[in-house]
Amino acid sequence: MTDPKIRVLFTPSQLRSFGRCPDCGHHPPTQDHHPDCPNPDAQEDT
Ligand SMILES: [Zn+2]
Repeated sequence: MTDPKIRVLFTPSQLRSFGRCPDCGHHPPTQDHHPDCPNPDAQEDT
């Protein structure tokens, strides 16, 4: 479940396909994680 205080416009699978964090919807390489991201140290499995 996504933390309800974080608005995510896409599904986690879509976010992953965009290279974004599935937990907060941000793009860590360019904008870092959302301040409230529940999993800011998540690594993509590639
Ligand atoms: Zn995140």
